[in-house]
Amino acid sequence: MIPVSSPLAQTIRHSKRIQESVDRVLASGVYVLGPEVEALEREFAQFIGVSDCVAVGNATDALALSLLALDVGPGDEVITVSMTASATVSAIKMVGALPVLIDVEPTTLTMDPDILRSAISSKTRAVIPVHLYGHPAEMNSIRETCDAFGVPLLEDCSQAHGASIGGCRVGSLGKIGVFSCYPTKNLGALGDAALITTASADLAARLRRLRQYGWEHRNFSLEPGMNSRLDEVQAAILRVKLEHLDADNERRNAIAREYLGALWDLGAETPVIRQGFSHAFHLFVIRDRDRRRLQRRLARSNVGTSVHYPYAIHEQPGFVDCVQVKGPLGVTESATKSVFSLPMFPEISDDDVKTIVRALEMTLEKGSY
Ligand SMILES: *Cc1c(COP(=O)(O)O)cnc(C)c1O
Repeated sequence: MIPVSSPLAQTIRHSKRIQESVDRVLASGVYVLGPEVEALEREFAQFIGVSDCVAVGNATDALALSLLALDVGPGDEVITVSMTASATVSAIKMVGALPVLIDVEPTTLTMDPDILRSAISSKTRAVIPVHLYGHPAEMNSIRETCDAFGVPLLEDCSQAHGASIGGCRVGSLGKIGVFSCYPTKNLGALGDAALITTASADLAARLRRLRQYGWEHRNFSLEPGMNSRLDEVQAAILRVKLEHLDADNERRNAIAREYLGALWDLGAETPVIRQGFSHAFHLFVIRDRDRRRLQRRLARSNVGTSVHYPYAIHEQPGFVDCVQVKGPLGVTESATKSVFSLPMFPEISDDDVKTIVRALEMTLEKGSY
């Protein structure tokens, strides 16, 4: 079965350089927050086009630390979408704030700027758009609204490493950007890791304190903080992968073009790429009201699929009672019932891409199009 993603294929592809990196760290005797982390932070800040990057343990922590750095806490409201990974909303709960969930645009399934404009209020202390599947949210309008209300914009870039709008990378479009480096992401570690980007030296300094007990220097805390440090092995591995990120995203886009060509010919609903936006194609997601049938048929041709996500945040028991839903979430609720993801990772072979395209043609021709 061709999988939807394959961290293993990437490990095998880079095995020699990964091994060298790990050996280098083992021999160095420095295992947490050392020179590899510092080099990764410099290299990723440059890649995104900001002055600072702070590396931490995972993106849920990264989002919570960012909210703390923005002074968001109990009594505050944070607006985000219900069409996202659980982590986005878990992080808001971690700092004691109230998640306010709004609907997404039908085309890209990212935050609807018009709905944001009517939902934002004097209690809103941060807005978190999610660049879902690798397509940037409509940041120009979102930023206008946030600026008008003086509310900081925190980008959840965990699915969109390298994506951009008008040549500016996501992670440089708000006050803070957060990137998960979980193994399946476009920039994936061999364990948990995350990167925070900002153009504010003050926010970066505070984030560096918050990730390590609030330490300003050793054993001297300015605030309680927490422990969410990145280790040297993961940083060294991420430095190898970062060198290939642009080319990998280009390969993802080439695979997407093959899928799009076939799907257009079949008259199927395809992912949209907005004019002037670049898509990181973390996931290639199509929609069908009878997705189970299509998934079963694709599986018979050895093509794996999965669903991102089968439940919106406000539909899950863990969140129902602790979020506020603003307005109907009709687009989100219909999307969770119809979306499914095709295989998408840079190491898919050309032969496998052909197999997938043929399977789509067979499956959809027999289907309802
Ligand atoms: C993966 C992901 C996260 C969570 O990242 P972790 O590193 O697993 O905490 C957050 N938001 C989105 C949109 C994600 O896809």
